Amino acid sequence: MEEQLPASEESSGMVKSGEKMKLFYSEKFLEYYEPGHPEAPARLKAIVDHLARHARAEFEEPRACPEETLLLAHSAEFLNLLKSEKFFERDSPALPGIYRYAVLSCGSALQAMQEASGGQTAFSLARPPGHHAGRCRVGGFCYLNNMAVAALAACQAGRKVAVIDLDGHHGNGTEEILRGRENVIYVSLHQVPAYPGTGLSSFENCYNFPLPPGTGGKKYLATLDRALKVVAKFSPEILGISLGLDTHECDPLLELCLKDNDYRSIGFQLSKLGRPAFVVLEGGYDPETIGHAFHCFLQGLTRKETKP
Ligand SMILES: [Zn+2]
Repeated sequence: MEEQLPASEESSGMVKSGEKMKLFYSEKFLEYYEPGHPEAPARLKAIVDHLARHARAEFEEPRACPEETLLLAHSAEFLNLLKSEKFFERDSPALPGIYRYAVLSCGSALQAMQEASGGQTAFSLARPPGHHAGRCRVGGFCYLNNMAVAALAACQAGRKVAVIDLDGHHGNGTEEILRGRENVIYVSLHQVPAYPGTGLSSFENCYNFPLPPGTGGKKYLATLDRALKVVAKFSPEILGISLGLDTHECDPLLELCLKDNDYRSIGFQLSKLGRPAFVVLEGGYDPETIGHAFHCFLQGLTRKETKP
């Protein structure tokens, strides 16, 4: 039986960046968009508005990621291609200024990681997402791999990191970049079959837990329990959590069936590892539900830090 979060902790708690945790966010993340594209500003705005309204959250402005840190995960040629905006990928269009936004999104993840390294849980509320971006390619709405950059920067600083990818899609880019690297593991729960078609089995330091369409909270939490045993055995100093809310039953892109309360349980299960975490936003495409689902996750993860 999964341990449940006590009901008394389920009401909204105050979330104040700088006291109990850090929340990194910039209004610049809302500036770029492609008409009709599901990776739209409304999804991030829904999370930020929800946290501001229901948890009185305060946010810190992130800084751009230094280029030498980007080079931990990406090639110099690829960075130049992104800067030139002369690439074509149907799902990840070369929008004006996209490199600047991607570098800021990476910087937000990097700062969240640095907070976690100092023992404080931190969240990067940013777009574009990153987990489909490979060392030399964009893909799946992603340009730079925020999580891989932050995780490798942590490794460079001598930290042992477990990356736990809870987006409903497999993080093929993160897996590609972290595969075979020392002091880091990649663990992912995701729907199969679905985009990008990878993540069917485990190898080296990459542990994949595919889930069939229709998977609900009970099966998801039982699978997460197995995945977290791998993480506990690895004994990381910090957790890097790629959080996608496209596992929600209302999400238009996938057929997983998590409910809001499941996110509280997922966060709670992660908190039991007893390690500081940095959470990086990946996907999630239903602006109606994404805000509350994110808040539930935050409450579960920081259960000792939210006041009833
Ligand atoms: Zn996704």
